[in-house]
Amino acid sequence: MKPVSIGLKLAFWYSLVFAAGLVLFSIVAWFGMKASLYHALDDELRERVEGVQKFMNFQIPALSLAELRHEFREHSVLGPGGDLFQVCDSSGKWLYRSAPLEKNNIAIERPSELSSPRFETRTIAGQPLRFYSQRIAVNGQTYTVQAASPMHELFEAIDRFGLGLLFAIPLLLGTAAIGGFVLSRRALDPVDQIARAAQRISIENLGERLKITETGDQLQKLSETLNQMFARLEASIASIKRFTADASHELRAPVTLIRATAEVAVQNRNRAAPEYLAALDEVLAEAERTSQLVDSLMLLARADAENHNLERTLVDLVSVCRVASDQGEKLASQHGVKFSSHLASEPISIYADGEAIRRTVLALIDNAVKYTPPGGCVDLALTGHDGYATIVVADTGMGIAQQDMVNVFERFWRADKARTRSQGGAGLGLSIVKWIVDLHGGTISVQSAVGVGSSFHVELPIAGPDATKLASL
Ligand code: ADP
Repeated sequence: MKPVSIGLKLAFWYSLVFAAGLVLFSIVAWFGMKASLYHALDDELRERVEGVQKFMNFQIPALSLAELRHEFREHSVLGPGGDLFQVCDSSGKWLYRSAPLEKNNIAIERPSELSSPRFETRTIAGQPLRFYSQRIAVNGQTYTVQAASPMHELFEAIDRFGLGLLFAIPLLLGTAAIGGFVLSRRALDPVDQIARAAQRISIENLGERLKITETGDQLQKLSETLNQMFARLEASIASIKRFTADASHELRAPVTLIRATAEVAVQNRNRAAPEYLAALDEVLAEAERTSQLVDSLMLLARADAENHNLERTLVDLVSVCRVASDQGEKLASQHGVKFSSHLASEPISIYADGEAIRRTVLALIDNAVKYTPPGGCVDLALTGHDGYATIVVADTGMGIAQQDMVNVFERFWRADKARTRSQGGAGLGLSIVKWIVDLHGGTISVQSAVGVGSSFHVELPIAGPDATKLASL
């Protein structure tokens, strides 16, 4: 099924709400109109009764009954509503009866029976009539005056109004629906424009950005958010490209070297066995470096894919550092560097992948040894305080220049490319170290001075009682 556009959905909901409002308004208006018409009719009847009372006040003392009837007849035909009224005295004797009321013998209460003025609607000879009966006192006597008014005009007016509403509702609703649709289309038009502009941006032209119109509304925010996303994508793609270029460059060097060594050895076939062995040694060393590089590259590729297979358990960091320290000591002695370690006397529990942490500490010791000339010192220290374990690997080596310190954790970054390449580094060690430390919720920092030495500080959170409980389950 084709998805319904937002414009149509908005128009639909708008029309629905509008229709509900319109129906409610019509019902209220219809009842309001009816009440007001009844009110006007009742007021008119009340006035007519008042008129009769005034007339009687004035005429009764002066006229006989026959004269009074005659006067009533003369006056009543001129009044509004024709001569539909009748009057009786306290004994029920008629003072006056309009012909239609007399013809239909419309009953009337005596003044003593009518406690309060009364309105009622009755159908007489198929005609709806509104009646109003009131007791009046004239010249010491009480009378009942009843006036009536035909209601067909009132009903006609109510019907006309209802019919008008019935026609107006669909008309208004249709106009509102079309208007709502047009308005929502116009309101959403900029979204379409943004979508079209965003579709034009692909991996080839990630540098392009959407035009921002300073409207201060959600559409400006949408364009800005998309632009920020494009900027992040551009940075990620650039870093992937850099990584691929650096990786292929790093891999090309050892492969070329292996090939060249093997070619030279093969070309000169009259070589002595030790010469072949030397060439093979060189090939082997370079192959080992290459396979280490490939391992590091694969580790980083997995890190990027967030497919890290760290197995975190509760481990004693002191024991982990002791293993790394023993290995580091051997490395140091091979390079003629003095090695010392100061590890906390009590165990320090951390929730970590012990093997990854051992490799991290060893990588830092390996660097310290590599970049420290023979006769220099490397020290490993481990302390625990304020919920954090701190590992410090310090050396008295060549140090890192102030401006380079921000780069040391970057992939493939080496202070001295030519020199460190021969020492076996591809500039990936510290970026892997940082990745592992980050995964453990820790931090790594470096302090260094050229010609004085460097110290790398790693902080890892000590396992709280919750982790200890979990691990013992
Ligand atoms: P590499 O494999 O080249 O050692 P790293 O990522 O481990 O790669 O280190 C990146 C660069 O940081 C090194 O090439 C070196 O220039 C510098 N570096 C790392 N550790 C030290 C250190 N302890 N002393 C001086 N420079 C260092």
